[in-house]
Amino acid sequence: MKNKILLCIADGVGDRPCEVLGWKTPLQYANTPHLDQLAKDGQSGIMDLYQAGTPVGTDLGHMCLFGYDLKDYPGRGPIEAFGESVELLTGDVAFRSNFGTVDEEIKVIDRRAGRIREGTKELAAALSGMQIEDVTILFKEATEHRAVLVLRGPGLSDAITDTDPKIEKVAVKQPEAKDGSEAAKKTARILLEFQKRSHEILSNHPVNKKRVEAGLFPANYILTRGAGSMPDIKKITQQLKFKACCVAEESTVLGVARLAGFSTMTDPSFTGNIDTNIDKKAELAVEALKENDFVALHFKAPDLMGHDNKPKGKVEAIEKFDELLGNVMNRLKNADSGNVIIALAADHSTPCERREHSGDPVPILISGKNIRKDHVEKYDEVSSAAGAICRIRGKDLFYTLLDYLEVTKKEGN
Ligand SMILES: [Zn+2]
Repeated sequence: MKNKILLCIADGVGDRPCEVLGWKTPLQYANTPHLDQLAKDGQSGIMDLYQAGTPVGTDLGHMCLFGYDLKDYPGRGPIEAFGESVELLTGDVAFRSNFGTVDEEIKVIDRRAGRIREGTKELAAALSGMQIEDVTILFKEATEHRAVLVLRGPGLSDAITDTDPKIEKVAVKQPEAKDGSEAAKKTARILLEFQKRSHEILSNHPVNKKRVEAGLFPANYILTRGAGSMPDIKKITQQLKFKACCVAEESTVLGVARLAGFSTMTDPSFTGNIDTNIDKKAELAVEALKENDFVALHFKAPDLMGHDNKPKGKVEAIEKFDELLGNVMNRLKNADSGNVIIALAADHSTPCERREHSGDPVPILISGKNIRKDHVEKYDEVSSAAGAICRIRGKDLFYTLLDYLEVTKKEGN
């Protein structure tokens, strides 16, 4: 029977013992019958996403989960671009951007143009496709005041300073080359020209004229930060010839998945929090398994609770994740999707006491009828550490899973 992989990622689920939980971790404290069943039916271990003792962001954590390395990491700009479905080519330079409001002296009045919600699609369309020297501008609106800017052309560099001053009532910063290279100087020149031309176009745009009439801040300037250049990396799905899909709501996760060559599924009822629609998530994941060899299912809430230092909230988020897995397992009983191997993992730990990501390893497991079983019967940081997988890295988990799909290259003869 053909194996399929369902990798379920509980964002930031790893933690440390918490006093309010009687010095248990949220995973140890939570009631998780489905996660524990998966532990019984498979093998467990712990995982350092990149390397022991190095905290990673959600973006790099997911890159490791999808088989990449730190050297492949393109920076936030390109990942945000993929998150907004802008397909980048090698050499493109992408920036995270804001629609902002400036006065006649190009001083920032509002970094978010009054948190503009409507009309950004029309404004972006008025800028995208602009040609400056031999460089083409791609510009796409994102949620509210956010947008992505991509410069496409020969000889560009991401060694460019941010133009967003991050505070208001000061002048927009000029883009500058961080090094003396011709490529960086050219990129700075083109970005400055884009900002000048776009300021003129935006100032005269009907959307902004209406905003001014209504007493709202016009979105008349593009502030940029987080320049990143698209490295020469292959989509892992093309390289290893398998079909993959990611079910998620967070644009960072969707961006990494698209960069890796995954198709994506999302839904407006996915909130990225504890009240997300887990029934719909389970439905989409099981649907995706029909057409794909590998499906990643992302659940955000545990990370938010870690950042807010809410151990009990994290317990609740974990119990919701357990419910999601129960829903998935139930649906799989009646689905004709081949032999689905379920793996549990996280993209990093977010200990409540730290309110930030840490380098603590995360618990993992691989579960299924044809998976070797060890003696671990519970999914948590301590129980999992006693399992047969021992301690591996994110990339190792990915390649271990892909070997069940029989797409990993045999070495030797
Ligand atoms: Zn994360």
